[in-house]
Amino acid sequence: MVNRRQFLSLTAATGAGILLPACQKQSTPVLPVKDANGHYLWQNWSGSEHAYPTQRVAPNNIDELKQVIASAPTPIRCVGAGHSFNGQCTTEGTLLALDNFSGLVNHNNLQYLATVKAGTRLQQLGKFLEDIGQDMVNIPDVNKQTLAGAISTGTHGSGHSLPALHGRVQSFRLLTLQGQEMNCSISENTEIYHAALVGLGAFGIVTEYTLENWPLAHTERQVTMLPLEQMLAEWPAQYTKNRNAEFFYIPFTGLAMRVLHNQTDKAVTARGEDKDMESLMDLKKLRDYVSWSPSLRRRVANMVADNHGTEYAVDYGWKLLASERSVRFHEMEYHLPLDAQLAALKEVITVIETQRPDVFFPIEARVIQGDDRAWLSPFYQRDTGSIAVHAYYEDDYKFLYELVEPILKKHGGRPHWGKLHSLTEKDFVQLYPQWQQVKAIRQQLDPQGKLVNPYLKRVWGV
Ligand SMILES: Cc1cc2nc3c(=O)[nH]c(=O)nc-3n(C[C@H](O)[C@H](O)[C@H](O)COP(=O)(O)OP(=O)(O)OC[C@H]3O[C@@H](n4cnc5c(N)ncnc54)[C@H](O)[C@@H]3O)c2cc1C
Repeated sequence: MVNRRQFLSLTAATGAGILLPACQKQSTPVLPVKDANGHYLWQNWSGSEHAYPTQRVAPNNIDELKQVIASAPTPIRCVGAGHSFNGQCTTEGTLLALDNFSGLVNHNNLQYLATVKAGTRLQQLGKFLEDIGQDMVNIPDVNKQTLAGAISTGTHGSGHSLPALHGRVQSFRLLTLQGQEMNCSISENTEIYHAALVGLGAFGIVTEYTLENWPLAHTERQVTMLPLEQMLAEWPAQYTKNRNAEFFYIPFTGLAMRVLHNQTDKAVTARGEDKDMESLMDLKKLRDYVSWSPSLRRRVANMVADNHGTEYAVDYGWKLLASERSVRFHEMEYHLPLDAQLAALKEVITVIETQRPDVFFPIEARVIQGDDRAWLSPFYQRDTGSIAVHAYYEDDYKFLYELVEPILKKHGGRPHWGKLHSLTEKDFVQLYPQWQQVKAIRQQLDPQGKLVNPYLKRVWGV
């Protein structure tokens, strides 16, 4: 993104370091490790959500899991890797982890199917699948999530002809609150399959998934810095001709980083060291030192942007598509009709660059193929262009709600289920044609609302 050594010397050379931030800091309270009842603190990855669950359980097998759901303090909230940015895992009742439900159950290499336990982390899954000659059809930006957590929130990668993860789920196994185990697929418990596939942990506990994968093959990765105007002009052609295409716009620089992945027969070329953290900290310094002058900020960034050609690597897709992302952040992502993506993005960039000099995290644009498997899929029956806006974890992120969200809503966006948004049931009724049917199925499966926490009350209007 930005060449670090050059950056450091150039910021010094510009006389930066004299004037300091116009940035607005979030005062993050230090939370007690235990509450008055002796219950330990739980926090999500970004640190925006917390709770003191009465009980934390990680059952070893299905019988232990059945005992938990029969008698545990409510709300019972499943937690995967805690990577959701909103409050869907918080509970003062029971925090239930399926960490012991991990690994491959069986597979079929005629159709490239694999049945996998729901608590398997995506990174582990990549290795398990490599060992049987398969790879996932698409992978998100990080691979720390559990399979169930990722699928339950509509987690996706980028690819014009590739659906989100749930779009390749042939079936899943659901344990209901009544202790009944059911297989859900297009042909078995069909309505529950459609309703609970992207289910926000609100229909029961998913214990395994059967995934439709593809044969293991090498993937070529190419990362290139471009002027934003060029990136926008070429975007439709880029996402049409490349298997996975996405880009990150770096605010206040006029520069975009394009990331492409395609299948290849070429031999492995190591990816090289992950410089995400260094690059982001350099962008933060640029913000801290020269945000008083947008033109200087842009000039310095352009002077030091890597212009050594394309960063290049070849390996299996599961090793290349995800990155480390060791700098924490808050994130809002909306999924828009594909045709609306660039107009909305331009508005978002304008509003940030005119009103929020403190923003330095790249803005991400991806494409996702529409699907009709999950009634709560944000990509339901429409090809999608997504826009994700991030804020450094220590910075104030209210602007996401005040400035960014109105633009994304206006363009017909549906929020990512695992990220920040302010919507309530009255919005979802408009956005999802099967909303009432899904709600009725949820009510039948959880009549006493044992799975419902404050965040889900807002979503379901209960
Ligand atoms: C650094 C970072 C990068 C990210 N990148 C992407 C990205 O590229 N693309 C994208 O789409 N999203 C991305 N996300 C969002 C993330 O993929 C989702 O929030 C995902 O839900 C997190 O998975 P998890 O295992 O942490 O689930 P959690 O956040 O722990 O849980 C999510 C939901 O799943 C439910 N759940 C978990 N296990 C079960 C189960 N066994 N049965 C039923 N319900 C269950 C929970 O109750 C909850 O409602 C990113 C998040 C972070 C922090």
